Amino acid sequence: MGTICSVIGHKWNNSCTCSRCGNTRDLNHSWNGCRCRICNKTRDEQHNWDHCRCTKCGKTRDEDHYFIYKPVYTEKDGAKKSMCEGTCRICGKVIVIEHDDQPAGGKCSFRCKRCNYTHEDHDFKEVPGRCAEVCSVCGEERDYMKIALDDSESFEKRRSAFMKLDAASMIPESIRTNCAEDKHILKQTKATRQQFQGGTSYTEYICVACGKTIREMDYGN
Ligand SMILES: [Zn+2]
Ligand SMILES: [Zn+2]
Ligand SMILES: [Zn+2]
Ligand SMILES: [Zn+2]
Ligand SMILES: [Zn+2]
Ligand SMILES: [Zn+2]
Ligand SMILES: [Zn+2]
Repeated sequence: MGTICSVIGHKWNNSCTCSRCGNTRDLNHSWNGCRCRICNKTRDEQHNWDHCRCTKCGKTRDEDHYFIYKPVYTEKDGAKKSMCEGTCRICGKVIVIEHDDQPAGGKCSFRCKRCNYTHEDHDFKEVPGRCAEVCSVCGEERDYMKIALDDSESFEKRRSAFMKLDAASMIPESIRTNCAEDKHILKQTKATRQQFQGGTSYTEYICVACGKTIREMDYGN
């Protein structure tokens, strides 16, 4: 408190700030939206939202973000899956959601409206007596070797493709050799959680090529 003000009191002039010493009070602010023009105090109303952030006071909210999207790969059920990752260019929030697929040109082609990721989604059906599947929509073929080695396929599809190749003695020599030497193509298929203190849990891996199951036990502590 300035010396004069301490003797005769502040000079408020109907404002929040003393014109003599600069002292402030929580009264008679000159609000310009959420911020006082004179003392810079802020309040939680009348913000000036630019998407998720107030340009006057910097407060953020979890809505109306300004997402920029790009495709990313995530691991789901042991298979790689392409997803849409959005990063807000204002507050940095990151979300990962399914693509917003729109038909794109060819019969089985799709493009994500947000990140432009393009992919093909065929309706493959088995062809009896052949080591291949054919798309019922566009007629594209793919053989079981391709499915077996495709990281983006589910564990079940890859495993069954390998079993069909095995039945036809068509598993490549290099993969047979690796499996024989315990260098499997392992995929996580199951993970259990410890049910109680000191209980055991495990993570289970199965080789898509030969079907060998490996469990990593965790005996808790
Ligand atoms: Zn004063
Ligand atoms: Zn003020
Ligand atoms: Zn504000
Ligand atoms: Zn944001
Ligand atoms: Zn996308
Ligand atoms: Zn197709
Ligand atoms: Zn194996």
